[in-house]
Amino acid sequence: MKRRQFFTGSLAAGVGLWAARHVPAAETATTLKTGDAKMTFQQPPLPFEMNAMKPFLSEEQLKYHYGKHHAAYFKNLNGLVEGKPEAGMSLREVVVQSTGPVFNNAAQAWNHSFYWDCLSPQGGGEPQGDLAAALQRDFGSFAAFQKAMSEAAVKLFGSGWAWLAADKAGKLEIMPLGNADTPLKHAKEPVLTIDVWEHAYYIDFRNERPKYVEAFWKAANWEFAGKCYAAVK
Ligand code: FE
Repeated sequence: MKRRQFFTGSLAAGVGLWAARHVPAAETATTLKTGDAKMTFQQPPLPFEMNAMKPFLSEEQLKYHYGKHHAAYFKNLNGLVEGKPEAGMSLREVVVQSTGPVFNNAAQAWNHSFYWDCLSPQGGGEPQGDLAAALQRDFGSFAAFQKAMSEAAVKLFGSGWAWLAADKAGKLEIMPLGNADTPLKHAKEPVLTIDVWEHAYYIDFRNERPKYVEAFWKAANWEFAGKCYAAVK
């Protein structure tokens, strides 16, 4: 299967494979040649077109966020691990095992790949099935979960991520984590995330993080989150 097809040709199948394997294409450490640059870890393509998320996110916003910020984490990481043992690991393994600059860049590479999959031009609404039941069990209702996750995202000081994550028993929790921190570092499995670094929303929303978070829900990819949750247990 071609990489592009994996992410866009059949979204449902691609997401299912992604979640089931817990290993996105970006995590497979394969040495590829891109021009003269040796790319140990390769940034996966966006799972939607650059102009497909309007009006939530403009093409310009995505060009910077995906094309500049996310790409830079991969570039930096590849430079840091060249010739080192990490170059032979999966991206997820590097995130779990590393510290310092290697962790920061590896986690930001992984986190963003996960974030793109949490967005869909056909997103919004509410989850179905086991995830819906678990949200009701652990938060009281979907509305209560959404309110709590929004508050966590808005109140997180500085740069970071608001995560919905599950432990190995399937219990859900909201984890507001700073900078590059990720549930993977806390033995939890990510189910959904909102990037609240300013670079995620500044072009479209300027300083108004609450408006970005409110708009996120109209793009939330519950099909993907549901498959991530199903793969936890
Ligand atoms: Fe970001």
